[in-house]
Amino acid sequence: MADMVRTTKKTDMTAEATKGEKEGEKLYEGKAKIVYTTSDPDLLVVYYKDDATAFNGRKKGTIQEKGVRNASISAAFFEFLAGRGVETHFVKLLSEREMLVKRLEIIPIEVVVRNIAAGSLARRLGLPEGTRLAHTVVEFYYKSDELGDPLINNYHIKAVGLASEEEVASLEVMALSVNDLLREFLAPRKLELVDFKLEFGRHHGRILLGDEISPDTCRFWDAATGEKLDKDRFRRDLGGVEEAYHEVLRRVLQKV
Ligand code: UDP
Repeated sequence: MADMVRTTKKTDMTAEATKGEKEGEKLYEGKAKIVYTTSDPDLLVVYYKDDATAFNGRKKGTIQEKGVRNASISAAFFEFLAGRGVETHFVKLLSEREMLVKRLEIIPIEVVVRNIAAGSLARRLGLPEGTRLAHTVVEFYYKSDELGDPLINNYHIKAVGLASEEEVASLEVMALSVNDLLREFLAPRKLELVDFKLEFGRHHGRILLGDEISPDTCRFWDAATGEKLDKDRFRRDLGGVEEAYHEVLRRVLQKV
């Protein structure tokens, strides 16, 4: 598999892409992405895989063309957000699965923003899935596979030293602003943004939005029918997984 990815990666890379950012070593392989160094210490290449996992890695599978869809969807969101003043790690797409990004020192906190109750919030608070929340919810989870990404609060963050108070305040402000902007972007595309997860990192003293924004990390419901168009189709064996990712890409690229 690693060899296959490597081969695909080499053939994927355009001459233009490799000229400035000579491909380097594999830095990290996660569940959905592989990160490579480049000749520039400030830049990395992120390769989007088709592998899918859920429930902290207990469910595994493949979603055909997921990497291609998620790279394009994320790029479109990052470009839109950058145009609205949100600093992100995105530089450019190098190929259909590869993204050139600024190197971040990842803050080990997953920031989840919720507009409608679903998933773990619906379970924790005993709310029927689909309940519109009277106020937007921001949650922090400690990024740790061994611990299963536990829910944490500002006190835990300070007690463990995951981020400074000032940084946590920035994460919250940035996450809420991303929520407003994405909802504005998605409304004419008839997609409801139920909830999503963001990751941030430090880059030369600034906090940038990192990771990806895709149906793997967001819940998107069709605004008219409520149909789920995200990774819940894989998590819950609903079928039509590939079609859902494709539909989100189609709507995200739609001129409105
Ligand atoms: N999420 C994610 N990665 C995680 C956990 C959650 O991207 O490791 C996203 C998920 O896709 C959803 C939101 O964060 O859009 C909230 O997820 P929730 O806590 O409800 O997780 P669940 O228990 O349903 O997986």
